[in-house]
Amino acid sequence: MGIPGSGLAKGLAVTLRTMTRKSHTAQYPDAQPELPPRTRGVIGLFEENCTVCMLCARECPDWCIYIDSHKETVPPAAPGGRERSRNVLDRFAIDFALCMYCGICIEVCPFDALFWSPEFEYAEEDIRDLTHERDKLREWMWTVPAPPALDPRAEEPKEIGAARKTADKLAAAEAAAAAESERTSDASDGPNGPDGPNERNGTDGNGAAT
Ligand code: SF4
Ligand code: SF4
Repeated sequence: MGIPGSGLAKGLAVTLRTMTRKSHTAQYPDAQPELPPRTRGVIGLFEENCTVCMLCARECPDWCIYIDSHKETVPPAAPGGRERSRNVLDRFAIDFALCMYCGICIEVCPFDALFWSPEFEYAEEDIRDLTHERDKLREWMWTVPAPPALDPRAEEPKEIGAARKTADKLAAAEAAAAAESERTSDASDGPNGPDGPNERNGTDGNGAAT
């Protein structure tokens, strides 16, 4: 059996110890929490990357991703080619009242269209308002932190190499077009051109008046 009053003394000792410690309670929302930059707050959608493959909706354990789309026919890329059809996104919504933030949808998306955003202030008074549509998901996309820098010793990703080649080709084509248009305008400004010497003298280049 313990000494009478020892429990009370222990309790008071704990009280005295914690009284002198710095408080961890934050007066949210007046004081904003300092969260790690890669906090998993909510899911952002980069819809330009979404091909409507439906993988995220199929893999979501809570079935809380809603996607609608329609098919569109795209003309052939080259003459004589075949027309292609592609899916066009009509609706992309996530019901955050059901979502359990497992991140499976983000992991399985093969086209990097879903990302964790550190945004967390999206409480609603009505649970039905927790189904957020593509506009809101896109808005959250802009709060997603930039990806970590690549290892400088790593091999260049082949996508970057391919993008650089395409950019170089486009720049070369633009430079050739600019040179061609300059040559054409020089030719039209020749001796008989509107600004050429013969035109200014009022002759046709053979001495005859024009
Ligand atoms: S985080 Fe998990 S539960 Fe939430 S939408 Fe993605 S897959 Fe579904
Ligand atoms: S898995 Fe990615 S690309 Fe496919 S529908 Fe979902 S968000 Fe779009």
